Amino acid sequence: MATRMKLKLKTVFVMYFMVSLMGLIYALMQLGQRCDCTEHITVKDRTISRLQEELHRLKDVIKNSEATRRPPKQPARGPTPTVFVITPTYARLVQKAELTRLSQTFLHVPQLHWIVVEDSPQKTPLVSDLLKKSGLIYTHLHVPTAKDQKLQEGDPNWLKPRGVQQRNEGLRWLREDRRAEAGADNYGVVYFADDDNTYSLQVFEEMRSTQRVSVWPVGLVGGMKYERPVVEGGKVVRFHTGWRPNRPFPMDMAGFAVSLKLVLANPDACFDGNAPMGFLESSFLQGLVTIDELEPKADNCTKVLVWHTRTEKPKMKREEAMQAQGLGSDPALEV
Ligand code: UDP
Ligand code: MN
Repeated sequence: MATRMKLKLKTVFVMYFMVSLMGLIYALMQLGQRCDCTEHITVKDRTISRLQEELHRLKDVIKNSEATRRPPKQPARGPTPTVFVITPTYARLVQKAELTRLSQTFLHVPQLHWIVVEDSPQKTPLVSDLLKKSGLIYTHLHVPTAKDQKLQEGDPNWLKPRGVQQRNEGLRWLREDRRAEAGADNYGVVYFADDDNTYSLQVFEEMRSTQRVSVWPVGLVGGMKYERPVVEGGKVVRFHTGWRPNRPFPMDMAGFAVSLKLVLANPDACFDGNAPMGFLESSFLQGLVTIDELEPKADNCTKVLVWHTRTEKPKMKREEAMQAQGLGSDPALEV
């Protein structure tokens, strides 16, 4: 009886041992087996290769944008010509605003010399201070417009040409100052920039290569969206203008530049304040160049890079009313 019990117990024990052992073996086999995660891996691989592609693309974008931002290397052909900008200016409420905007445009133009000519009997502190603080290379001149040439309050602005004696004074200074350096380096370009126009930086790069007289369109001028020289086969053949296209040079002041060499070689070329309306530009250019010789810029005169903008005269109604009460703005505060 006791032996049978013992045998049964032993069988139970062996069976228990066998089952445990099989369980253990199964568990160990499961541990060593590869799981079925091929799908996870392909998703991961795809993500990695997509990110790598994106990285390559971004690298290309950075490379290209650096290439376009870097200024093109100057071909080795001597020094960069200086652009001499002659600006007539006169005292009025918006003068400081105009000159501030202009000077800050010019700060972006390499090798620019600003010749500011005040229409006044003396240099004014406003312009002197502004120039001193401008960070530009400049020459400060002044000449008052003769009384009989000056627009009077209420005159329509087309009645008399404006800034004539000032532009001529700028030319006089250039001829005197640069003659001393004649022969040395007379690489330069002369441009007449009124203080109220709007100038793209590109227009200065276009004019820099002027040999004699270069030309380009001017926007918002002459009652037109733009006026421009019309170019065929690389030559100016006529002018797109709404008014007297048969003037010798039916162009606005902002639409041409002259090489310094040509200005020095023609010491008498200047603006004629008595020229009929619309003939001021012609009075200067006539003796210097022929239409056939004009050098078209701005993609054969198909791009507008300068605008003949005009600033509205600010209304001072309330200022005057306040002044009448002794409460006007402080006159010592420069505007
Ligand atoms: N100007 C000047 N004295 C004047 C009127 C104008 O020196 O009595 C200057 C003005 O600052 C500008 C240029 O001459 O630089 C042309 O004047 P404006 O802009 O009034 O002419 P418009 O826009 O009518 O051609
Ligand atoms: Mn103007």
